Amino acid sequence: MSFLAQRPMPYCRGCGHGLVARRLDEALGRLGLDPKRVVLTTDIGCVGLVDPLFPALHTVHTIHGRSTAVAAGAVLADALCAEGGLTNVVMLGDGGATIGLLHLTQAALMNVDLTVLLHNNMLYGMTGGQHSALTPEGFRTSTTLAGNWLPALDLEQVLRGCHGGFYARQLATDRELAGVIAEAIAYPGFALVEILELCTGFGVPLNALDGKALRAAAAAEGRALGVRIRRTDRHPYHALYRERFPVRAEAPPPAPAAPAGPFAHRLARPLGVVVAGSAGERVQTAAAVLAQAAVLSGLHCVQKNDYPVTVGSGFSLSEVKLAPAPILYTGIDAPDAVLLVSADGLREVRGRGDLDRQAPDGVVIVDESLAGELPPGRALAAPLRRALPADAAALGAVALLVARTGLLAREALLAAVDAIGGKDAGALRAAVETGAALGA
Ligand code: SF4
Repeated sequence: MSFLAQRPMPYCRGCGHGLVARRLDEALGRLGLDPKRVVLTTDIGCVGLVDPLFPALHTVHTIHGRSTAVAAGAVLADALCAEGGLTNVVMLGDGGATIGLLHLTQAALMNVDLTVLLHNNMLYGMTGGQHSALTPEGFRTSTTLAGNWLPALDLEQVLRGCHGGFYARQLATDRELAGVIAEAIAYPGFALVEILELCTGFGVPLNALDGKALRAAAAAEGRALGVRIRRTDRHPYHALYRERFPVRAEAPPPAPAAPAGPFAHRLARPLGVVVAGSAGERVQTAAAVLAQAAVLSGLHCVQKNDYPVTVGSGFSLSEVKLAPAPILYTGIDAPDAVLLVSADGLREVRGRGDLDRQAPDGVVIVDESLAGELPPGRALAAPLRRALPADAAALGAVALLVARTGLLAREALLAAVDAIGGKDAGALRAAVETGAALGA
């Protein structure tokens, strides 16, 4: 059975990447794997063009150097949070391996159950044939035309230093490559197969190399071929994790009921609120008061804050998600309410597309100064910044929302202010009262 699409290889003629794709296909067939249970994660570079060749598999194309980390996360999420049993393979080249070297070493140290196929053609092909940390001494690349001065990183030694469980070094043309890849995939832990190959676009013309010369070059460098590390004394990370945090065999306990709170609420479904304003105007405090009031009302709650790297200037934004049941998805795809208290906040919310994604019955509360920025009838405008200090306008908007919708008791907001307001509790209480009056 073949999972390879009937389409031309996207690589230069003679590129080793095509051979590796065929050998991977062969290995998957030998193992009899269900393609729906195989995840192929690829890196940036010519090697990353492989995704469309395997339409039957799950494919994930990552940013440069991060393929191993992304795949390691997928392995652990599958093994520890889902039913497990996915087969995960990473394909990367010189760039993915060297930019992401620490991800490789960490996955090897953890022994994450993952197979990495490293296409080592001794240079960066996609960007013009520059040398990499895997370029051997004397090898000519577009940036080492007189021959590389430095020796290449020895990945076998790197893997040994990481207590790696499985490591093999093969040529892309080796007949046994498919078998080695199959063994690596079947290995219960981290497996790295370093595949030496030629970039016919740059490596071959600059070095007048052929496949035999590649084998000789590997030998001259002392890089023996074959399976070099095969340890049986290491356990995959997810197995160690399970040992330390065993899961009960019986049915999981029912989801915890919402903690009973001293205040009533009127929320029957999850509600997402976005509060946006300017840095330094206590937007996130206002969101925290809403979140605390929700908890005091027996609701589940998540708060996420956002602000630019400049921290003290520009926008400040908080998302608050409230729900009567445990919140398993913390994102807010379409906010039910958007509270805007400054132009910085409006600009950020527009950039995020919150207003575009809102349902037609979504609530928008804005400071009166922003009313002209929105279509007529789209928002409830209130004199938040006129009735309150600038750094209390966001909390005023929260109180206005609560008063308008009746979703929480005003006393819950006041109790939340007392709980988290510290020395500013008095001013915050005044903001709640003013905002509530604006919403009455
Ligand atoms: S540039 Fe090199 S690595 Fe890229 S496809 Fe062509 S031969 Fe392969």
